[in-house]
Amino acid sequence: IQGAKSCDLLILGAGPGGYTAAIRAGQAGLKVIIVEGAKAGGTCLNVGCIPSKALIHAAEVFHKTKGLEGGQNVLGISLATPSIDLAKTIGWKDGIVGRLNKGVEGLMLKAGVERVTGWGGMLDGKTCEVMQEEGPILIHGEHVVLATGSEPVALASLPFGGKILSSTEALALEEVPKQLVVVGGGYIGLELGTAFAKLGSHVTVVESADHLLPHYDRDITKVVEASLKELGVEILTGAKAKQLTQDGACLLVDLSDGREVSLPSDKVLVTVGRKPRLDGWGASNLYLTMRDGFIAIDDQCRTSMTDVFAIGDVTGEPMLAHRAIAQGELVADIVAGKMRRFDTVCIPAICFTDPEVVSAGLSPQEAIAAGFETVVGQFPFAANGRAMATEAEIGFVRVVARKDNQVVLGIQAVGRGVAELSAAFGLALEMGARLDDIAGTIHAHPTQGEALQEAAFAAMGQPLHM
Ligand code: FAD
Repeated sequence: IQGAKSCDLLILGAGPGGYTAAIRAGQAGLKVIIVEGAKAGGTCLNVGCIPSKALIHAAEVFHKTKGLEGGQNVLGISLATPSIDLAKTIGWKDGIVGRLNKGVEGLMLKAGVERVTGWGGMLDGKTCEVMQEEGPILIHGEHVVLATGSEPVALASLPFGGKILSSTEALALEEVPKQLVVVGGGYIGLELGTAFAKLGSHVTVVESADHLLPHYDRDITKVVEASLKELGVEILTGAKAKQLTQDGACLLVDLSDGREVSLPSDKVLVTVGRKPRLDGWGASNLYLTMRDGFIAIDDQCRTSMTDVFAIGDVTGEPMLAHRAIAQGELVADIVAGKMRRFDTVCIPAICFTDPEVVSAGLSPQEAIAAGFETVVGQFPFAANGRAMATEAEIGFVRVVARKDNQVVLGIQAVGRGVAELSAAFGLALEMGARLDDIAGTIHAHPTQGEALQEAAFAAMGQPLHM
């Protein structure tokens, strides 16, 4: 043992949850040590949210440019044949990740946080042993935050390696695969599947549920499915991926009608979910209560052990970066002596497909299941001037409200660029907006955001531009 360090707050894992807790606690004057075995920023920054959106953007630019080839398009713009050098694209993506890595490191430094590089293992609820080249060091924390995140779920018959990829390897491919099979039609599979289809792969999505994006309702997923088909993506729902053929060239899939098909594939991307990272950091040395396979926490992110908190993906669904960030910020405040609870009306979820999907709060079906009598208003982007002027006419915004007092329960949208509307949706729900609050807010023209106001008008029975 090299020596021992001690601090007010010891954080294991510097993903969005961990580094946010570190920065906030450092700003509050606490002595903070954060232990991270890889680069700062976790899954989100290194192999998740940011690199995937960079690849999606590059694919979109390439696809749009391809659409302008030869001048036979509605915009009347013509271009010579565009090409893509995916290795260069990946280099650009890595550059963004690198800049953000440095940014996070810089913010932690500025807040006075000590960063210990190495893989940590908890020996008990206050002590972490970190392996380093010179030997292990011990860190004692008065308070501990477990923020070890999550990892991709593997299929026993299709273990990662060779041509079977997780999202991490898919984000580092330097050549566009000719035939890509995506196993799992959730948001990660569809985001990456869309990107590769736009880059020129022939993509087939294999999903065991009866529709893609099983967490969203059919009105929304129908729009995404139609666009995927238009892009040339083949969709097999109610289908189960089995294993590769003997020669490894094809993936065998059981279809819903009992037939078996063999799908030619250069690469198979398995995106069947993510699981909490519970191995390799001494979880078994702690007395943690578990819930549904995740570390159980209360509304202050406290675990079953005194002064041991847990945040982010390791604590449950929704496994999203903004939930981890919100929990990190909350825990830092609590350790610094503030009284806070994780009390949110909604955690918006976005799927960055084309069109994008946003869901904040309850869908019409969920609102009814929760016992509310509801009114629902919907406005199509086909009737929105900005959407028409930017080739974004697919999709709609939908508002769900209580019938009795018109308080908004949920807002969903599917359409090009709707991810940027999610802040307005979340704000409306957090502020307890009623339909007339949204309808009475002057929305700047021409914007896609006007569709939210129009959907509120529609839910009030007073549609305007419809
Ligand atoms: P993580 O980001 O997983 O960070 C955990 C950190 O702990 C890692 O850096 C790890 O190295 C470190 N660690 C683990 N064990 C140890 C140890 N023993 N010692 C030291 N360090 C350790 N979410 C969104 O909100 N929006 C999106 O658009 C989005 N897109 C995604 C796309 C993809 C392809 C993927 C895979 C995920 C995406 N996510 C998205 C999910 C998002 O990345 C996670 O929800 C988020 O990163 C969780 O943050 P976290 O801090 O809980 O854990």
